[in-house]
Amino acid sequence: MDHKIAVISGDGIGPEIVTEACKVLDKVAEVYGHSFTYTPVLMGGASIDACGVPLTDEAVETTKQADAVLMGSIGGNTATSPWYQLPPDRRPEAGLLKLRKALNLFANVRPAYLYKELQEACPLKKEIIGEGFDMVIMRELTGGLYFGARETKEENGVLKAVDTLTYDENEIRRIAVRGFDIAMKRRKKVTSVDKANVLDSSRLWRKVVEDVAKDYPEVELEHMLVDNCAMQLVKDPAQFDVILTENMFGDILSDEASMVTGSIGMLSSASLNDTKFGLYEPSHGSAPDIAGQGIANPIATILSAAMMLRYSFDLDKEADAVETAVEQVLAEGYRTGDIYSEGCTKVGTVKMGDLIAEHIK
Ligand code: NAD
Repeated sequence: MDHKIAVISGDGIGPEIVTEACKVLDKVAEVYGHSFTYTPVLMGGASIDACGVPLTDEAVETTKQADAVLMGSIGGNTATSPWYQLPPDRRPEAGLLKLRKALNLFANVRPAYLYKELQEACPLKKEIIGEGFDMVIMRELTGGLYFGARETKEENGVLKAVDTLTYDENEIRRIAVRGFDIAMKRRKKVTSVDKANVLDSSRLWRKVVEDVAKDYPEVELEHMLVDNCAMQLVKDPAQFDVILTENMFGDILSDEASMVTGSIGMLSSASLNDTKFGLYEPSHGSAPDIAGQGIANPIATILSAAMMLRYSFDLDKEADAVETAVEQVLAEGYRTGDIYSEGCTKVGTVKMGDLIAEHIK
């Protein structure tokens, strides 16, 4: 089957890591008899340089014609790049915000997985790590506090700022459905995180999540308050399968969860809408400090491509093959510089891509 992929290489290390992800996808196509068609799309600094804006309307249209978007990363050195002399709505990141909005990408999925071979990088004690952990954070991306009405005003000579946290039941339902769907593809447990002891929006969140859970009798649902969740992530991360939560809680918890894995170059992410469509990108940025040196770790992007196979194309077997290939290459001792430890074999971006592609079976 042919799948159309819009490819945003982006800036910094973006083109280097996306090339390796496409190499791995090509190997998947060859081994499993699929065909992937890539259409390049400019976004971020690359688009500012070529078109004067971080994302053109034509580029948005191209992504809409595709089945999924694979992205590297956008942006440059925020202190020195001329892109950051531009007004905020013309800077590289404005392109990504525009795209998320245009494609209605309301669900952000970020796995946090600890590879056995990389346990040294995990900042938690060995007795806490145990056999490792494997969770995903499902974060609502287009509602809540970050999108509510806000203002700063002066009242009787005192400055006062107000932010509004709003969710309606439809916004909660659609992200909850996404969370339960993903749990069905995993260990079938959802931890819904809220602050229902204080917030009305959280009480509605809990009610709607419980309602959605009725359609997924195989999935175990538990509720957890956000302050407890922040604690449990460093106390017993293995208890989590899918953490389902609203925008701001998810923003904070997903960074905490990635931090406990210890290796940013390994972490994939997906932003989804209510169809099979998604945008897949590594959790890290464009690493301008190492761009063009051939030393960037392409694994987060390769694992993002695996998520695309699983969530947008329903190619679970093929996604497993990519994830297994990554594990095997790590088990054989190959490392890029960012995850290198003594006794391992240091390789560059291209060699890491070659090795993973060779292991696709
Ligand atoms: P960063 O993630 O790019 O880099 C942080 C550190 O991690 C750097 O030392 C970098 O060399 C290293 N690093 C990151 N990815 C790596 C990889 N794959 N292999 C090896 N080392 C890696 O974060 P930053 O420096 O704060 O941001 C750089 C630019 O990226 C900024 O313009 C920022 O706005 C942008 N950014 C973009 C996105 C996105 O496109 N979604 C996300 C985050 C940051």
